[in-house]
Amino acid sequence: MLALDGIAKHFGGIRAVDDLALTVAKGEILGLIGPNGSGKSTTVNLICGLYPVTAGRITLDGRDITDLPTHRRLSEGIARTFQNIRLFGGLTVWQNLWVAQNAPAHRKERGYLARWLGGSKQAREETGRLLDFAGLAHRKDELAANLAFGEQRRLELARALATRPSLLLLDEPAAGMNAEEIAALDERIRELKRQGYTIVLIEHHMELVMAVSDRVCVLNFGRKIAEGTAAEVQADPAVRQAYLGTA
Ligand code: ADP
Ligand code: MG
Repeated sequence: MLALDGIAKHFGGIRAVDDLALTVAKGEILGLIGPNGSGKSTTVNLICGLYPVTAGRITLDGRDITDLPTHRRLSEGIARTFQNIRLFGGLTVWQNLWVAQNAPAHRKERGYLARWLGGSKQAREETGRLLDFAGLAHRKDELAANLAFGEQRRLELARALATRPSLLLLDEPAAGMNAEEIAALDERIRELKRQGYTIVLIEHHMELVMAVSDRVCVLNFGRKIAEGTAAEVQADPAVRQAYLGTA
């Protein structure tokens, strides 16, 4: 579904991502891990178009999307969450989802905007399902800015789902969560996997990423240093060195 072909992002002298080749198959959960500053978030920013690439090519379902702006990539089915949450703080929980539901992908459907503005039954039901999935039904009229941290993370995930993505990029969804919240997130990600979502999951909680990923890719200094099953990368000396600083 997704192919990164020798992509690079340089910030002045910093090679945040360097000659990275990576593929993601439909229905796969790819775990993307690596020490702090290894280029994980930059990779997500390149895939969703927040940053232009310095070099390389990105294709989605065989189509070159390297030069498409972010909103066009969204309409091609790429949605994401942010490591540092970015909700519409002045909108309610419900409104955050409602806006996302009107993402460009939906506008391809005839009459969608009219249905959206009119508040169609179908769209309302979809918002309701997402509120339930995120455990936020009781908070639907609260401003996003007033939510607790864990609730904000759940709302961001639901907002990404509201765009009906074919590829979901999750940048450290468990960051800042307590053990109970992480367990609930783990269950939600497993549910998305059962539903057949294709996901790139960046995560520091190794238990979570190792449990749900079909394949794990490890970055260090912007380069891929290992790729394989959870067990394979855990046993890889280069990975141990990157994390622990010893061979
Ligand atoms: P990770 O998500 O793996 O922790 P990042 O992708 O955020 O790593 O960062 C990779 C490297 O690129 C780091 O050295 C970081 O300081 C640098 N970097 C990231 N974004 C920018 C930016 N907008 N401007 C300059 N340097 C950046
Ligand atoms: Mg990051």
